[in-house]
Amino acid sequence: MFKKTEDKRLNINGEDYPYTLRRKRYAKYVRLTIEHDGALMVTAPVTYPVFLVKRFLLSRARWLVKNLTKVKNNPNIFSFKHSESQIKEYKKQTRTFVLDRLNYYNQYYNLEFKRVAIRNQKSRWGSCSSQKNLNFNYRLCLLPSDIAEYIIVHELCHLQEMNHSVKFWRLVEKTIPDYKFRQKRLKKI
Ligand SMILES: [Zn+2]
Repeated sequence: MFKKTEDKRLNINGEDYPYTLRRKRYAKYVRLTIEHDGALMVTAPVTYPVFLVKRFLLSRARWLVKNLTKVKNNPNIFSFKHSESQIKEYKKQTRTFVLDRLNYYNQYYNLEFKRVAIRNQKSRWGSCSSQKNLNFNYRLCLLPSDIAEYIIVHELCHLQEMNHSVKFWRLVEKTIPDYKFRQKRLKKI
């Protein structure tokens, strides 16, 4: 559980780098991550002093500057900021598309699922829970539709195979014979 979030700034060679400090009750050490949108996130134990957090960050300054520049020069689909109303509209479009495609492909698979949720996920396109709920990223409607269909079938097949075994891929292949090609294109988005 996150106890507290603090906004901080780090100065590297005269340049200001804002970062968010999350105080995590059960954290054992300081962790540094760069989000998809280039935001800097630092997780630290509750009592860890700020000056030590800064010292840690400065010891990673070279790595930090290099990777932040990389993220900023190669924005991906997850780094675009959408307004509340855009997200609402995309969610609606994605939901219609997902339900339609699920119905279509499930004529073949005939699998049982419960809830279908469209979410604002930071890095995942979809997931399937052991309770047979399907989740999809609201950005799905922004993808080429054949790639979005591959994601939908992928999650649908997880209802039967909760893994990425040969059996799972055979199942996907039944309705998406060129899934490898679509997967390759998705990785570049
Ligand atoms: Zn999967």
